[in-house]
Amino acid sequence: MSCYIKVYGRVRPSTSRNQQNALTVVDKLRVKVEADGRCEKLYELHRIFAEDIAQEDVFTTAAKKMVEECTEGINGTIFAYGQTGSGKTHTMLGPADSWSDPVAKGLIPRSVEHLFAQLELKAQECQKFSFKINVEFVELYNDDIFDLLRSDSNKITLRDTGNDITLVGAKSESVDNSLDLMHVVKRGWKSRRTAATAMNRDSSRSHALLIIKVCTEEVTGSLKTNRSSILNLVDLAGSERQSHTKASGERLKEETNINSSLTVLGRCIRLLSKPSTSHSFIPYRDSHLTHILKNSLGGISKTAVIVNMHPDRSFVAESSSTLQFAEACT
Ligand code: ADP
Ligand code: MG
Repeated sequence: MSCYIKVYGRVRPSTSRNQQNALTVVDKLRVKVEADGRCEKLYELHRIFAEDIAQEDVFTTAAKKMVEECTEGINGTIFAYGQTGSGKTHTMLGPADSWSDPVAKGLIPRSVEHLFAQLELKAQECQKFSFKINVEFVELYNDDIFDLLRSDSNKITLRDTGNDITLVGAKSESVDNSLDLMHVVKRGWKSRRTAATAMNRDSSRSHALLIIKVCTEEVTGSLKTNRSSILNLVDLAGSERQSHTKASGERLKEETNINSSLTVLGRCIRLLSKPSTSHSFIPYRDSHLTHILKNSLGGISKTAVIVNMHPDRSFVAESSSTLQFAEACT
C-alpha cells in the first residue's frame, strides 16, 4: 500500500519591482529555478500554482475532494510548508481579516464551509443521518504542545495507546456549523499571537495544527453505520535556516526543533509515498508533529503538502531547498 500523497507548489507574487524573479512557472507541473542566469533546475510536482492563481482554485485542486471524503470516514491532512513570508498563512487562512471574504478567504474557511455543506446535504438526502463535529487547535513550539483554545495555555501531553492518539488536556469544542467553527479558529489564532507576544517569541517559529473530528451515523433499515475521521489543517513553522544569524540560546533551540520536526515530517511522507517501503518502519514518534498525526498520515488517509515559495532572487536558496523537500515527497 502506498498512501495517497499529493505535493503542490505555489509561487506567491513578487514583492520587488526591480528584481528579476528566480522562479519561473513553466507549466502546470513544472517550475524553473535560476540564479544569476546559472544553476537552472527544473522541478516537477503534482501541480504548480502560479502567482495569479485564485484561492478558490487552490482549494478545489488541493482540498475539496479530501474534505468530501472526510465525510466518508477517510482521514485527510493538509500542510502548508515554506519559508516565513512565502504565503503559508495566506494559503491556509487568507489575508489577515479577510477570512470571510468570498474571493480572498483561504483553504481553512473554504474547507470548513464545504464540510458542513456536504454533511447537511447528506442529512437532507437521508433522513436518518446525523453528524457531530469536534475541533481542537494546538500549537507546537520547541516540540512542546500548547492548547490554543484554553486561556491558561498550559502545555498538554500526548497519549498513544497504539490505536488512538489523544492530546491529554486539550480542549475539544463541539460545533454545529461553519460559522461556529471559524469562530473557534479565530479565537485560537488570536491566542497564538497573544502567547507569542507574552513569551517574546515569534509565532512563525511554531506549527499551528487545527484538528477537525468528524463523526457520522447513518441508519438504513436495520443497519446502522458509524464513521469517524479527522481533517488536519496545518500551518507549519517557517522552513528557513537561520545559520547566518548565528543563532544561540532560545533561537538555536527553536531552530533545531523546527529543522528536526520538518525533517522528520519529510522522512515520514517520503516513506509513506513509496510503495516499496510500505511495510517499513515509519518514524512518527521522532517528533510530536508527526506523532500527533500518526493515525491520519498512515492508514486510510489522504495527505496534501502545499509548498509555498517567494519568487525573488534574494530567496533563491530557500526556494531551492523548499523544492527539494517537495520533490522528495512526490
Ligand atoms: P507566511 O505565513 O508563510 O509567513 P504570509 O501568508 O503571512 O506568509 O504572507 C506574507 C505576506 O504576503 C502577507 O501579507 C500575505 O497577505 C502576502 N501574500 C502571501 N501570499 C500571497 C498571494 N498569493 N497573493 C497575495 N498576497 C500574498
Ligand atoms: Mg504565517
